[in-house]
Amino acid sequence: MKKKIIVGNWKMNPTSLDEAVKIYKAVKTAASRLPYVHVVVCPPSVYIQRLNSSRSVSPVSIGAQNVFFEEDGAFTGEISPRMLKNLGVSHVLVGHSEAREMGETDEIVARKAEAVLDAGIHPIVCVGEKERDAHGMYLDILKEQIKNSLAKVPKKLIHQVIMAYEPVWAIGAKEPMEPSHIHETSIFIKKVISDIFGHENAFKTVILYGGAANFRNASDIVEKGNVDGLLVGRESVNIPGFIELLKSINARS
Ligand code: PEP
Repeated sequence: MKKKIIVGNWKMNPTSLDEAVKIYKAVKTAASRLPYVHVVVCPPSVYIQRLNSSRSVSPVSIGAQNVFFEEDGAFTGEISPRMLKNLGVSHVLVGHSEAREMGETDEIVARKAEAVLDAGIHPIVCVGEKERDAHGMYLDILKEQIKNSLAKVPKKLIHQVIMAYEPVWAIGAKEPMEPSHIHETSIFIKKVISDIFGHENAFKTVILYGGAANFRNASDIVEKGNVDGLLVGRESVNIPGFIELLKSINARS
């Protein structure tokens, strides 16, 4: 059976390394008993080396929350895909709405996705509309975002890309999107990908949902929303909540 992918975006949390280690260890122990989920945690980059220090085979993959598209050079404050790869990072979020809010354009997302693929890392390309209008304009916005964000992905590498559909209005909200709407939108995303990369590639593309997922609603979202997993923000640093979420997904798989 295909594992569901659960990505934990810790955002700018927690504030100490000790706490980060505590969360990571708890998630690792839980994940080792859950064969039907593939857990990826994305801590702040300052914690990555410590969390991944043993480099042994782990039930939890390490992701990064951001990256720059250049290899090296005069880019103060930036981190390259190769640096992340050398730390054992396997996934990187690109185009998260919080990064887009701070100026990350589709063009930058496309360059980041390309650079990440070049380094042999899976880009998790985040897309999502800011609001849903009654006339369906949000679908055009979503389509443009997908097309532009994937503009530099070679056809032969599209299977390495993970898409995260995150309606911006649901991120940090109380309630997630209605699962039936998630299902409709994931079909739409596949259609857009199919038009660019072909039907077979679109069929295989992994699509995650993100936005107010927690241990209570997670299995419903995955099952009724018909997605391959979740991108989880707040609940991913709440140890009991995140472990319950993982168990609920594992149990339904
Ligand atoms: C996110 O930051 O990607 C996210 C989905 O946040 P939350 O789960 O807190 O809504």
